[in-house]
Amino acid sequence: MTNILLADWETPFALPPFGQIDDGDFGPAIDAALEIARAAVAEIAANPAPATFANTIEALECADDKLSKVLGVFFNLASADANPAREALQRDVSPKLAAYSAEVTMNADLFARIEALWLARDTLDLDAEQARVLLLTRRRFMRAGALLEGGDRDRLKAVMQRLAELGTEFTQNLLSDEREWALELSDSDLAGLPGFVVAAARAVGEERGAGGPVVTLSRSLITPFLMFSSRRDLRRRAYEAYVARGANGGATDNRAIAAETLKLREERARLLGYETFAAFKLETEMAKTPEAVRDLLTRVWVPARAAAEADASILENMLHADCHEGPLEPWDWHYYSQKRRQAEHDLDEAALKPYLQLDRMIEAALAVANRLFGLEFSPLDVPLYHPDVRAWEVTREGRQMAVFLGDYFARGSKRSGAWCSAMRSQRKLGGEVRPIVVNVCNFAKPETGTPALLSWDDARTLFHEFGHALHQMLSDVTFESISGTSVARDFVELPSQLYEHWLEVPEVLAEFAIHAETGAPMPDDMRARLLGAATYDMGFQTVEYVASALVDLAFHAGPAPADPMQKQAEVLEGIGLPRAIRMRHATPHFAHVFSGDGYSSGYYSYMWSEVMDADAFAAFEEAGGAFDPEMAGRLERFILSAGSRQDEGQAYVDFRGSLPGVEALLRGRGFVDGAA
Ligand SMILES: [Zn+2]
Repeated sequence: MTNILLADWETPFALPPFGQIDDGDFGPAIDAALEIARAAVAEIAANPAPATFANTIEALECADDKLSKVLGVFFNLASADANPAREALQRDVSPKLAAYSAEVTMNADLFARIEALWLARDTLDLDAEQARVLLLTRRRFMRAGALLEGGDRDRLKAVMQRLAELGTEFTQNLLSDEREWALELSDSDLAGLPGFVVAAARAVGEERGAGGPVVTLSRSLITPFLMFSSRRDLRRRAYEAYVARGANGGATDNRAIAAETLKLREERARLLGYETFAAFKLETEMAKTPEAVRDLLTRVWVPARAAAEADASILENMLHADCHEGPLEPWDWHYYSQKRRQAEHDLDEAALKPYLQLDRMIEAALAVANRLFGLEFSPLDVPLYHPDVRAWEVTREGRQMAVFLGDYFARGSKRSGAWCSAMRSQRKLGGEVRPIVVNVCNFAKPETGTPALLSWDDARTLFHEFGHALHQMLSDVTFESISGTSVARDFVELPSQLYEHWLEVPEVLAEFAIHAETGAPMPDDMRARLLGAATYDMGFQTVEYVASALVDLAFHAGPAPADPMQKQAEVLEGIGLPRAIRMRHATPHFAHVFSGDGYSSGYYSYMWSEVMDADAFAAFEEAGGAFDPEMAGRLERFILSAGSRQDEGQAYVDFRGSLPGVEALLRGRGFVDGAA
């Protein structure tokens, strides 16, 4: 009998036939799909006919069709509804996929065909999208080392292997340092802590078999402890332990690992023909060069530091009023900042929540998409992978655009966080395929019969993930490899972060933020306090973040430093980091940069995206307001439908008329006075 996962699905919208899939089907289906893909790749490489765009690039685009189909379902289930069988298979599948991918990029015959097309590209009569896909395909091969031969090829392999080991070791050392440290609290040590922090500390104490409450370095415990503990001596101990992670000497010290990692990354970049690792990493990003990144960070740094210094002097006065002497220290910031927040932005979460009903917030996200892009959403009654999952058919003027799934509630089988994935991606090659898009969140599930209520952060998350979903649902390109969210890393958060702005639009809140019991709209002063609180303490947050981003850049934009800690100190000295603020992540525990290379010389990208989303929303405000149809049309045409059809910087310029400026971000973060 044929494996159901490999068959054609005769279901509505060709949705995966969830009810008929057995967990035991996945392993064999993935193995079979890998064999099909390998055979397809081998056939392309061995084709006696001269290379053409169709018989090489297009054929390569389609080689993985079955594999993507099976993995689209599998990875979604493994993340959103895991069980031991799915977890075991996931561990099994990752190395198989990595091996397959390396085989493809190291296939010399295949690369020779791509290279032949590249050299003849001006004579091939390619349209712009085809030319872009050829460029991206060749670049992907080159960056994996397809051009290397003999000793260089072996050396790259060894370097990559060692880098992977170092990344794993870095992570494990960090976990071990985090587990190791604990502070037992006596009754007098609980001063200032609210009930929920004491309860959490007691629970951890019990788990560890300690006699009473315990504080550990787990973020969910140390953060509230530093915010609420009125014992300055204990805050200091906890803070110092927190920032010492990875730098405690002994077997778990990460400093030598960081140094070796940077050295090998530089070697990797040089083997591949790049001057520095940052040049290698940024080639595929919108930012393109270390100079562009440094310029952006510096433009934000100056006003952010001014705002942080102003805040620091207010907090220092509070410290002195508490009869402490001397300057404000890093272990004081969260505590006094929390006190000031309570005084200035008192927000009663319990009073706010009834205005943020999940169902109304989903309606709001859909209604905004309807108004901006004309999308219509009709609920679908189809079998899905879990009873909590909802589905909508998405149409525009009668044309089917997508199927959208919303999987909103937390459960034990779901990994934490929130994400958007395409179970099937949009493309037109070989016939139009419309996407199946999933938003997965972890909102608390209410008791039966009561409405699910969200926090403000939850509501933002819902809009954020829906922005990613729109990037998939509106996609309108020929090639799957560039469709939807397959864009540069420093560009991919633009649609999602931009969409969050519509949650704050007064008319959206007025219509959808209505009280679960009374139906009354959110009072104006509550809305004002809510939006005002959003910019609170932004000086601190921006400074600690930008300091980390600048150190990350300095590590990779020049020769690898022999002593990263020394380099870190130089960078911080150079920018004048305020005394009471440290890097958000110091080198020995900077997992974004050292646990793998995902965010290495890429930590800036959160800020980069934020500059863009602020600037892009300002474009609407400058035009005719949040629902300006002309801007909505441009947003869809140049960004939401375009995937990576063209260079991301050019896409932004086409949408906006120019590259993004930092002014809107500075306004949004409340730095406007410092932003001369
Ligand atoms: Zn996102």
